Amino acid sequence: MIAPRLADWFDHHGRHDLPWQRDPTPYRVWVSEVMLQQTQVATVIPYYERFMARFPDVRALAAAPIDEVLHHWSGLGYYARARNLQRTAQLLVAEHGGEFPASLDEVQALPGIGRSTAGAILALSRGERHPILDGNVRRVLARHFAVEGFSGLPAVAARLWQLAEAETPHQRVAAYTQAVMDLGATICTRTRPACDACPLSATCQAFAQGLQTSLPSPRPKQKARRLRTTHMLIAVGEGGAVLLEQRPARGLWGGLWSLPEFEDETAAVAFCSARLGIAEPKLEQQPVLRHVFTHFDLDIVPLRVTCPPAGTLMDDPGYVWYNSRAPQRLGLAAPVAGLIRSHVLEGSR
Ligand code: SF4
Repeated sequence: MIAPRLADWFDHHGRHDLPWQRDPTPYRVWVSEVMLQQTQVATVIPYYERFMARFPDVRALAAAPIDEVLHHWSGLGYYARARNLQRTAQLLVAEHGGEFPASLDEVQALPGIGRSTAGAILALSRGERHPILDGNVRRVLARHFAVEGFSGLPAVAARLWQLAEAETPHQRVAAYTQAVMDLGATICTRTRPACDACPLSATCQAFAQGLQTSLPSPRPKQKARRLRTTHMLIAVGEGGAVLLEQRPARGLWGGLWSLPEFEDETAAVAFCSARLGIAEPKLEQQPVLRHVFTHFDLDIVPLRVTCPPAGTLMDDPGYVWYNSRAPQRLGLAAPVAGLIRSHVLEGSR
């Protein structure tokens, strides 16, 4: 159990003079938790004092003009927090007589109050036993118990909540809650934790294994999408007919008709000479078209070539001359229809 050592550390080294620790009503704790969400303690203190002087309770906040609430928030940033705070205060007045509800579930159901904030409000103000898991606590637990994996993943979050629940003591809950948050904020910091001064170092697995900098595991980097490139030949024959080839039954665009595809321009030139009888093929490269598939992107490099009028039309099975002006009923791969439209039909207008 980490709680006894944390509570002892808190008694001797923790912060005891924070304004929200005086008369810790649910309202006062709630406002401090919201202010501290994206802001350092030292910055929050003077704002908190002024805010409490002007809006000492839920009713005062609910009844205030929003401009005044925002004025008292001005400088803290993230103004949506202030708006939401007042909206929730108004809801507390309208539906709960201006008091915080009794149960964790009801507190957690209030707008803008998540499971951890609800736990902190009830633990710090009423001494009720509820686990918390804000960013600081997550870091302490992930390191102490060497929990690997990004905490945004449901299985990892579930494991951390399980530890948070198991470690929350039955006595001195408020002291433990404040202590574990303080430890994360002042000792077990994101970079360069002060393990030598930490009351948990004797049992900390990250410390023992030298994993402090790799835990908690960061968010996994999004894998770069794979990008493939293909060259598609737009061979335009008599009357604007376009040469198509049928794709294999299996795989991408299985069985559909597509423009002949090549790895590069050289292969396309060779095909034009050998199969279309073009003596010196002049391929005109058209703007690259990116087609997005679920797992990769395909860059299509269209290469347009005009076939000479007579004796050029190949007649192999698997190929067809497609009359784009009076199209046959063929299944075309989606980008192919677009390429024919823009490089044959519209190009010849
Ligand atoms: S020993 Fe170091 S890594 Fe482990 S909880 Fe303490 S400060 Fe964090």
